[in-house]
Amino acid sequence: MAEETKGTQESSPQTTERKPNNNNRNNNRRPNNNRKPNNNQNRNASNDGKPSGNKPNNNKNKSRNRHRRQPAPTDENLKAFVTKNQEIHKQRLNPHYKLDLNSSAKIRITPLGGLGEIGGNIAVFETEKEAILVDVGMSFPDEDMHGVDILVPDFSYLREIKHKIVAVIITHAHEDHIGAMPYLYKEMQFPIYASPLPLAMIGNKFDEHHIKEHRKYFNPIEKRKIYEIGNDFKIEWMHMTHSILDSSSLAITTDAGTIIHTGDFKIDHSPVDGYTADLHRLAYYGEKGVLCLLSDSTNSYNPLPTPSELSVAPALDRVFAKAEGRVLLSTFSSNIHRVQQAIQYGVKYGRKICVIGRSMERNIEIAMQYDYIRFPKNIFIDADEVGRYSDKEVLIVTTGSQGEPNSALFRMSIGEHRHVKIKPTDLIVLSSRAIPGNEGSISGMLNHLQRAGAKVHSSKDIHVSGHASMEEQKLMLRLVNPKFFLPVHGEYNHVMKHKETGMICGVPERNILLMTDGEQIEIAPKYMRKVKTVKTGKTYIDNQNNHQIDDDIVLDRQKLASDGIVMMVVQVNGNNSKMTAKPKVTTFGIVPDKQDKAFAKEMEDVIEHFLLHLKDGAIENTRALENDLRQIVRKHIYRKMKKYPLIVPHILLVS
Ligand SMILES: [Zn+2]
Repeated sequence: MAEETKGTQESSPQTTERKPNNNNRNNNRRPNNNRKPNNNQNRNASNDGKPSGNKPNNNKNKSRNRHRRQPAPTDENLKAFVTKNQEIHKQRLNPHYKLDLNSSAKIRITPLGGLGEIGGNIAVFETEKEAILVDVGMSFPDEDMHGVDILVPDFSYLREIKHKIVAVIITHAHEDHIGAMPYLYKEMQFPIYASPLPLAMIGNKFDEHHIKEHRKYFNPIEKRKIYEIGNDFKIEWMHMTHSILDSSSLAITTDAGTIIHTGDFKIDHSPVDGYTADLHRLAYYGEKGVLCLLSDSTNSYNPLPTPSELSVAPALDRVFAKAEGRVLLSTFSSNIHRVQQAIQYGVKYGRKICVIGRSMERNIEIAMQYDYIRFPKNIFIDADEVGRYSDKEVLIVTTGSQGEPNSALFRMSIGEHRHVKIKPTDLIVLSSRAIPGNEGSISGMLNHLQRAGAKVHSSKDIHVSGHASMEEQKLMLRLVNPKFFLPVHGEYNHVMKHKETGMICGVPERNILLMTDGEQIEIAPKYMRKVKTVKTGKTYIDNQNNHQIDDDIVLDRQKLASDGIVMMVVQVNGNNSKMTAKPKVTTFGIVPDKQDKAFAKEMEDVIEHFLLHLKDGAIENTRALENDLRQIVRKHIYRKMKKYPLIVPHILLVS
């Protein structure tokens, strides 16, 4: 501050001279400096003083050629100002100067999900005495997790530090940020701080899971306001643009300094609701000094800026203008602005709107209930009313853009939806991208839809991403200007790419860490380091009953699916350990039916041989006997088939 004042004072005697200079400089720039040589020394000096070294040299050469003049002497005063400005740039760009390096305070960050994977975001921020959770999301299973519908983060570490947790902080309402909330709250409860839409959606989940009473933990927040949470945390929610309404970035301030967590974001300068990303608040914190930035890496490979949500409007308009029959539009049910735009164009072309699909209906209902979007009620019709309107008067907005087998669109595609059957005049609009891993099911659904005669429109212009590309990531890095940088949200290669972008934007490599789930990072104004690893993993959930599936069940299913099953029954006399009947073996999924008998016979012989030599008293420990039986069958099958099937022995004791 003091220096700044000094600077202005020093320059004051020059101000009168400098003004005309600046004008002249503009005039002079395009023609050549040589046109009016030596007219005003200061003017030439001002050109010389510019950092680019080439121009003056050229001039010098030309001057020499024409024998016009000697190079002008350096104006030491101007040169001093160059030095001053260089110092100002250094101060402004180096976050070191803005942090209290004498502070011994520190904070620990532990991601329990969301790194090395897409989805399942959950992170712990921890001071000496307190902790907060940021987001509690779910993710989707791999194909070999048979019968598993969703994955919930392992809460082991949270059980360990339960007494320290003062709040759950939510950035936005996507499933991969709030989907695991009911599972956490069935076990432990903390105050929840979030903007209204995420809370409304969490409330809905609590209702579905019959834990309505936990709504009492809701603390709705106002953006741009700083909340004191526990004794150690001050948190501000800053509005952010993303593919769901009411998203936020967080400014989390502790004694160690301020951490900016972007949440999921893109920088949309023309969002549908007009609420742009709050770049001013980010810049405010950047100016004050930021200890660490955690930023969304999902689209870190994309060099082109992510288009605005509004950019799908022209394509939607074209689709509706041309459509001859019904339009069935499918998108992510949480992308309310997309749905809103689709409805607007439907209405523009005289269509009634029929919303089908539980999550789509619920999300539109919440968005209208809480005034995020406004539509007159009379534009909506129920699924059983669709038949009463001509095809050109109907827009069906529905779920199933990922080809999910129990979604409305999929059921329509195979003719199993109660109210809507696909017609050859239908136009299906898929306004979404395929989530990696879903390509197969989407393609399958497209086959069904096209077999039923419908036309499918799924071109790129009808969908935009909700995540920041490289250029927006750069903007974030430059606005926040953090000392330390932790790229988050994404698989390893995504965060790695984001690290490169961070380095381009002036963060030294040693100040960037690539975290993986369970790694605890300690950050203080002077350093950032990994301190320990905590237990992480996934809990399997069956969506039909919202219950957990134990790990061993999933392992058994994997074995069954890949290697089959062997069942055997042996009958032994409990008194003398003698076999009383021949063993019986049945197998599934190991050999073809026609070889089944011969294969079973082989194993029955092996078992019989074993039982004939059973020692007296061997049957007293049936568990040991079962293990022995498993062992010999396993050996035999591995030798013949190179497989490890599930082996189920039954021992019948007779006397
Ligand atoms: Zn999101």
